Amino acid sequence: MNTHDILIVGGGAAGLSAALVLSRARRDVVVVDAGVPRNAPAAHLQGFLSRDGMAPSDLLEAGRAEATGYGAVIVGGTVTELVHCGQSGFQALLEDGQRLRARKVLVTTGLHDELPDVPGLAERWAKDVLHCPYCHGWEVRDQQLGVLWNGPDSVRYAQVVRQWTHDLVLFAPTGTLTAADRTQLVARAIGIVEGPLERVVVQDDRVTAVELADGRIIPRQAVFVPPRFVPNAALLAGVGCDLDEEGWVVTGASGTTSVPGLWVAGNVTNARAQVITAAGEGSAAAIAINADLVGDDVRTAVTYFNQGFPA
Ligand SMILES: Cc1cc2nc3c(=O)[nH]c(=O)nc-3n(C[C@H](O)[C@H](O)[C@H](O)COP(=O)(O)OP(=O)(O)OC[C@H]3O[C@@H](n4cnc5c(N)ncnc54)[C@H](O)[C@@H]3O)c2cc1C
Repeated sequence: MNTHDILIVGGGAAGLSAALVLSRARRDVVVVDAGVPRNAPAAHLQGFLSRDGMAPSDLLEAGRAEATGYGAVIVGGTVTELVHCGQSGFQALLEDGQRLRARKVLVTTGLHDELPDVPGLAERWAKDVLHCPYCHGWEVRDQQLGVLWNGPDSVRYAQVVRQWTHDLVLFAPTGTLTAADRTQLVARAIGIVEGPLERVVVQDDRVTAVELADGRIIPRQAVFVPPRFVPNAALLAGVGCDLDEEGWVVTGASGTTSVPGLWVAGNVTNARAQVITAAGEGSAAAIAINADLVGDDVRTAVTYFNQGFPA
């Protein structure tokens, strides 16, 4: 079995950016990608300098063409297991039974968004149920917006969403807001509606209101909700990476992990990473990985040289 210089697990912005840098560094790069990037449900990608408004799939298609143009190989599939074989690198098992070997591994498997269990939310996700005001706020500016409670950070989040509209309501469970929360919300004219939610009302293929369990219906044109971010970190746990108590991988500079030779980049390690940030982290990890490989190459060359076999 051929041993690749680098296996990249995940071909989103982080993985493809790393593949581009590493293949241009004349490394033997293989990317395995399951093909379900986090922003796939979104029609447009916003806030990426020079690519604002592009379809997310078009960005990735361009990235794949660039990386393969320099020799990277992209395999469609899912890595189900990673094994660290010490100094000789890693073995990866794919869902279809294929095995790959690589000297170094970069994991860029992203995260998934867990929404509160409110009827109507999931079906409108990325249309008019939104999570990231920087991704979608401009498109719904000045509309009647709602923020749904999903933990104490929802108040700060509502204050951020307020940047995009004067007509904002925070929906919160009864008894959760502190006096300080209320003062801050009222001071910035953010409406407060308390009580259990029944559903997000959808009519004619758009959100029209939020309905409460007591029958109140509050008209809204779009709803923001902070999801719970869950890293796709099963491979990292399986290979023995240190994770924190919430399941996020513990990292050092440029995405190093506690497993030598294994790096991470993008949403799998940084929930706040936008597409441009994920791409940047992939690039930084790629440069660090190449430096690490050069270090190994120097050590190997010196060993051969000392034995009388110059490389
Ligand atoms: C609805 C929505 C809209 C968004 N809009 C914007 C926006 O407008 N602008 C912006 O900057 N950001 C936006 N984002 C954030 C954006 O999605 C992330 O910043 C970006 O996707 C992170 O890139 P990544 O490469 O880390 O992960 P991803 O893009 O999620 O890529 C991870 C890849 O790894 C693959 N994978 C996972 N596990 C495995 C495995 N075991 N084996 C092989 N492959 C695997 C996945 O299938 C996927 O292709 C949005 C997010 C959402 C949810």
